[in-house]
Amino acid sequence: MEPLFATSQTEALVPRIREFVLTELVPLETTEHLTGNFSTVARILDQKRELVRKAGLWGLQHSVGEGGLGLSLCEFGQVSEVLAWSPFGHYAFNCQAPDIGNMELLHRHASAILREHYLEPLKEGHIRSCFSMTEPEFAGSNPTRLGTTAERDGDSWVINGHKWFTSSADGAAFAIVMAVTNPAAAPHRRASMLLVPTDTPGFELVRNISIMGDPSDHWGSHAEVRYTDVRVPLGNLIGDEGAGFTLAQERLGPGRIHHCMRWIGISERCLDLMCRRAATRELEEGVMLGEKQFVQGWIAESRAQIDAARLMVLRTAHNIDQRGAAAVRDQISEIKFFVADVMLTVIDRAIQTYGAMGITDDIVLPWYYRHERGARIYDGADEVHKTALARSILKGYGLDTRKSKPISNRRDA
Ligand SMILES: Cc1cc2nc3c(=O)[nH]c(=O)nc-3n(C[C@H](O)[C@H](O)[C@H](O)COP(=O)(O)OP(=O)(O)OC[C@H]3O[C@@H](n4cnc5c(N)ncnc54)[C@H](O)[C@@H]3O)c2cc1C
Repeated sequence: MEPLFATSQTEALVPRIREFVLTELVPLETTEHLTGNFSTVARILDQKRELVRKAGLWGLQHSVGEGGLGLSLCEFGQVSEVLAWSPFGHYAFNCQAPDIGNMELLHRHASAILREHYLEPLKEGHIRSCFSMTEPEFAGSNPTRLGTTAERDGDSWVINGHKWFTSSADGAAFAIVMAVTNPAAAPHRRASMLLVPTDTPGFELVRNISIMGDPSDHWGSHAEVRYTDVRVPLGNLIGDEGAGFTLAQERLGPGRIHHCMRWIGISERCLDLMCRRAATRELEEGVMLGEKQFVQGWIAESRAQIDAARLMVLRTAHNIDQRGAAAVRDQISEIKFFVADVMLTVIDRAIQTYGAMGITDDIVLPWYYRHERGARIYDGADEVHKTALARSILKGYGLDTRKSKPISNRRDA
């Protein structure tokens, strides 16, 4: 834990959650659970969820008014790091993506009826949800371009479209779908968010996409979905018509803190595994792997990079708590690409330290390698965040890059 940002809440919670993760969840990391369908381990995790409730640790992310512990984003970030010590931590505590983002969205912007029917059971862990925005035919990096439409017809919206990477759609009770409701509006006002129960006629889960050899199922999957004449009541609109893009941005601000702190937890876990191996793997009699300077370099660099990353993320979380996400957009971009890179570098070093064993499913490292490579792509690809940050910096030097023309159009070309 980072003492600079510790509070009485985190000092009380973090050791208890760490103990729970180490004793109840880390032992579940068997080859069967790390490679098979997620539904196999989900059955056991349901029992762990009961233990979480009994321990009074359910609903960590909710405000006191919502029956939660009222943690700030900065406090929740510190808890999230500890949960990430196991691939099953966030799920066991019901604060896993995409549900955590959907809970926040429904809490702030859904009607009382939608909140009663969908938010309450979601908070209780009785149902799961998914978020359906990205489409195979359009570059997800430009979310203003979407092919999915929702047209008013009487008292319904009629949705038609094709999505993919709708994470955790398999078994979810509802999807929050981003669809164009007014093609004539300005690009950022064209789309809206709609809640679609997955048992609505016309909702078709085409497949769970195989990711590096593993389609998984349940919460661990990423689905291709078709919406064909899907009819939902007008009241299933979330927020205002045309506000889809704004809501998506709002959902992503705290979401990036959640991801980044999870990635720091994963990095810590991998560094721990790396050090354990380095200290005990004998290269020749009496000479351990950790005595080699290459390995010492990996350990030292990993330590420094993780510490730097944690400070950056907690600073950003603290600033979001104080000033809101819009005020610290640059810091959010900065941590998104920086921390993803630190995590993937540390995972790779840990695998290298283990040699052949590092790529076996006897240990957790390949799980992280497969499941976390996407970190540099989702919630804004590295390049998008780097470009946004650099543009903002250059603006301070009087260069407005939005006015930049292609090289061939310039007079100096
Ligand atoms: C594990 C995972 C889970 C996901 N879960 C969900 C989900 O639950 N719901 C959902 O709707 N979507 C989800 N996504 C999709 C994700 O949001 C998109 O993959 C992302 O927005 C990028 O879109 P794209 O894949 O179409 O890539 P593209 O937009 O085609 O971009 C491809 C590459 O181009 C480069 N690039 C893009 N823009 C620029 C630029 N401006 N400058 C320079 N280079 C650029 C980047 O390297 C990028 O990786 C998930 C993705 C992953 C990997």
